[in-house]
Amino acid sequence: MSEVDLDYEVIVIGAGVAGIYQIKRLTDLGIPSTVLEAGSDLGGTWFWNRYPGARFDSESYTYGYSWSKELLDEWHWKERFSGQPENLRYLNFVADKFDLRRHMQFDCKVESMRWDDDQQFWTLQVSDGRSLTARIVITGLGLLSAPTPPRIEGRDTFEGQAFHTHFWPEEPVDLSDKRVAVIGTGATGIQVIGAIGPEVGELHVFQRRPNWSTPLNNGPISDEEMADIRSRYDEIFELCARTPGGFIHQPDRRGFYNVSREDRLALWDRLYDEPGFGIWLQNFLEIFTDEAANAEFSEYIADRIRQRVDDPAVAEKLIPRDHGFGVQRVPMETNYFEVYNQPNVTLVDVSETPIEAITPTGIRTTEQDFDFDVIVYATGFDAITGAFDRIDIEGVGGQKMADKWHAGPITYLGMMVNGFPNFVMLAGPQSGSASTNFPRGIETGVDWTTEFLEHVWEEGHTRFEATPEDEAAWVENVAMLYEMLLLRKGKGWFTGYNSNVDGHEEGVMRLNVYNGGSPKFSATLNEVAADDYRGISCE
Ligand code: NAP
Repeated sequence: MSEVDLDYEVIVIGAGVAGIYQIKRLTDLGIPSTVLEAGSDLGGTWFWNRYPGARFDSESYTYGYSWSKELLDEWHWKERFSGQPENLRYLNFVADKFDLRRHMQFDCKVESMRWDDDQQFWTLQVSDGRSLTARIVITGLGLLSAPTPPRIEGRDTFEGQAFHTHFWPEEPVDLSDKRVAVIGTGATGIQVIGAIGPEVGELHVFQRRPNWSTPLNNGPISDEEMADIRSRYDEIFELCARTPGGFIHQPDRRGFYNVSREDRLALWDRLYDEPGFGIWLQNFLEIFTDEAANAEFSEYIADRIRQRVDDPAVAEKLIPRDHGFGVQRVPMETNYFEVYNQPNVTLVDVSETPIEAITPTGIRTTEQDFDFDVIVYATGFDAITGAFDRIDIEGVGGQKMADKWHAGPITYLGMMVNGFPNFVMLAGPQSGSASTNFPRGIETGVDWTTEFLEHVWEEGHTRFEATPEDEAAWVENVAMLYEMLLLRKGKGWFTGYNSNVDGHEEGVMRLNVYNGGSPKFSATLNEVAADDYRGISCE
């Protein structure tokens, strides 16, 4: 390796939850580093997704950073599941408190990255025209940050206002008295429909496949409750570290078939009324693995939907038929089903009458022409690998990451990729972080990465790379975990389904996430570190 004068030792891409913490760790160590962020300010997910109803599905106090007692003492979460404006304020508060903003560069979209294997550094081409060099690149790109508008003919011809939820305008959009369409009923659609339904003039929801959805049961957090939470933070974070999902919810390990039907119903009645993901994650483990157990529980939730929707025909349309409860990511809802009881709200089942085109005045289905003032595309993301694919990443010998990952991600521990040296992903594809309470997993990723890099620097290494054998073994492990779970049958981002992305359409299974759970993932990372970073060749 020849000596080169690099701009930075480390470039972090993305100033979201991951990038903010990673730059804190790096600058605490005095490492010359910067964050490049495509947006005009920090916040990642919470900077972009400003649609009405956008809020955590994680308990707020499990979403915040755990690494500063002072921060934990100072910040007061006001709602059990905090909303987007407050979440963005929180991330800004953190950045300002620790003076991190000066290490961030905004409006800097990384367009390409090339690895120089002779001199061992990365060159990043940035949207503002600069080329920046760094020994190491760390990504905090977000797993759901590459929005996908629907591939529907005529989208550009619409003369009203139209946007993907990810790009909901920063200035308030007045929807009262407007005729509004929402296309998409995933977690985002369900939040936005529940929030705007009571306010808009007319709302038409274009649903292709319904999702199982259960009440968020949000509520305020009083001063007294917050004081209690503060006194229990250690306990709360320890609990999150012990649960598979990284949440406060522990699965019920009694065994579905060891519990009477009456007791099962009692558990479900209780969980349905409790806040958050308990109904999914405090349930029997068989819900995730056993078709019959899953079917019985799904029918229980179907009955709940029937009880909440006045028109039986509409209720039946809102009940999923093609997948069981929880095999796709469960959207949490607030008043979602009641919205369909309002006279100004209409459900359009586009599985029966598909959308043919967006027209200058609205939407045309096979049955009818609808006129709208506003069309909202709640049509999701090119999840997990989309944000990587949108950067032209070229590794050793000119190999492109997008080519290597054409049929799905291939990683070691979800953190590194063979052929792409000095490259680390925080909460990457196939990491435990990708399938759990994101910030908990992100902290695991940042802490492990920082310790690994300290090791690299102490040992005087200038190049590190996952070995092909260990990478292959990790992918095999990820594949085996999918085989054990019913979620392999879901058509959602866990399996890489997206009808609006070439090659991600129905039936194309991608091994996107690690399903072994938080404790096992953390334990594996610790074992790898203790075993002299097994699977990573350093020179
Ligand atoms: P999504 O789950 O992928 O949902 C996209 C929706 O758009 C689906 O209902 C899909 O229908 C529909 N759709 C796509 N193209 C269509 C077309 N051409 N015509 C008709 N319908 C179309 O995306 P998302 O709702 O944005 O959620 C993605 C993930 O983001 C969630 O699973 C969650 O992890 C995360 N999220 C989290 C929160 C939170 O924590 N509070 C909130 C929102 C989102 P099909 O199912 O038929 O494809």
